[in-house]
Amino acid sequence: MSEILALIKERDPDQKEFHQAVQEIVDSVKPVLDQNPEYRQARIMERITEPERVIIFRVPWVDDSGQVQVNRGFRIEMSSAIGPYKGGLRFHPSVNLSILKFLAFEQVFKNSLTTLPMGGGKGGSDFDPKGKSDNEVMRFCQSFMAELFRHIGANTDVPAGDIGVGGREIGFLFGMYKKLRNEFTGVLTGKGLSWGGSLIRPEATGYGCVYFASEMLATRNDSVKGKVCLVSGSGNVAQYTVEKILELGGKVVTLSDSSGYIYDEQGIDSEKLQFVMRLKNVKRGRIKEYADKYSSAVFTELDRGLDYNPLWNHKADCAFPSATQNEINKKDAGNLMRNGVKMVAEGANMPSTPDAADVFLEHKILYAPGKAANAGGVAVSGLEMSQNGMRLNWPREEVDNRLKGIMKSIHKSCVDASAAYGMPGNYVAGANIAGFIKVVNAMLDQGVV
Ligand code: NAP
Repeated sequence: MSEILALIKERDPDQKEFHQAVQEIVDSVKPVLDQNPEYRQARIMERITEPERVIIFRVPWVDDSGQVQVNRGFRIEMSSAIGPYKGGLRFHPSVNLSILKFLAFEQVFKNSLTTLPMGGGKGGSDFDPKGKSDNEVMRFCQSFMAELFRHIGANTDVPAGDIGVGGREIGFLFGMYKKLRNEFTGVLTGKGLSWGGSLIRPEATGYGCVYFASEMLATRNDSVKGKVCLVSGSGNVAQYTVEKILELGGKVVTLSDSSGYIYDEQGIDSEKLQFVMRLKNVKRGRIKEYADKYSSAVFTELDRGLDYNPLWNHKADCAFPSATQNEINKKDAGNLMRNGVKMVAEGANMPSTPDAADVFLEHKILYAPGKAANAGGVAVSGLEMSQNGMRLNWPREEVDNRLKGIMKSIHKSCVDASAAYGMPGNYVAGANIAGFIKVVNAMLDQGVV
């Protein structure tokens, strides 16, 4: 198995995040490959780690002062073994091939876990929507779609949102796709409710993550009720994670953005959460303003000189990292353990570094990797595709019940697969193995393509 990593590193030496994601899968699926020699014979690992297609394109646009700006656009079509490519678009200055390939690779296994027929993909741009006017964001999205529309379609590749791509951006992207193709289809998910969107899609990733956490806690006869929770981020995933934790009787004491974090020892209640939603989704302000408004909260500015994140150094029972990749390092993981955290559910993708994940596994806490815990978002995207295909809209309760059922089933798949391969309680191995087997069997069935 080390040959695979050596091959990938030699081919793309700078793609550190992609290496990290592949390493995790390689470590988990070794027993599966040992028991099934036909996978090695078919060179499944070599094939599954190479994207089916990578598209890179220029995105020129004109800013409000009349200056021409140029960004880079990407779409990674990683695997279509079990369905059309499916995965979000990320607009953030840090976006590069390594980050998008890691996200696309993870997406393949996550989508497989949802039980829905979706392949894996990811895309985006190094464009930063922060500080841009609505008109600038619209012009950028239109230029981005002027190229992307050739490569996507309701039965080919169905993008969605991710960091920096919310309802506003999906609207502009969809509008341009519709104009260019002259057709109204479910080519993007996360659409507005009056034009093909699904109820519960905005809530799905956060709600799903808390449903998964509840399933894990139930294995130890416990629940979210009364738990003190640390949540990072303050975007889509973080907001609905907090909403569901509150509904289930938990208490949330932190939120963050890329400038720092707030700690509110009295807890972020529903009214304060509404303030955060307005602040982030409408005013597009900074989390620091929460501490200006509520005297019970303290804002701590991000200090890049520190080798740990103080957000993870508070007394708590549960942690829900919901901002970005590698936001919990080994030292943070140690701090979480010392402060009594017994459960970590990853709303973000790959928020824990490999050595942080090792700390959680060594301590045998309940630890859910992102590809299982945050799969609720793409699951409801899959439900949005089904509703679009049938041209009907399911009521809120129906979508929420389906989401709950899917998270329950993902939890069971992780538990069963980890036990079957001799690693009971290891949700990382369970998620990787369960997601992997379905995809590679489909690849074997379909021949060398
Ligand atoms: P979002 O609405 O754009 O919010 C992202 C949040 O994380 C913001 O508070 C942002 O702060 C913060 N953040 C982003 N990059 C950061 C960095 N480098 N350092 C510190 N903070 C950073 O995005 P989201 O949809 O909630 O996504 C959050 C995570 O969940 C990502 O890992 C994403 O891949 C994952 N995820 C999302 C979905 C979904 O349905 N949206 C589904 C599955 C997984 P600023 O505003 O200051 O940048």
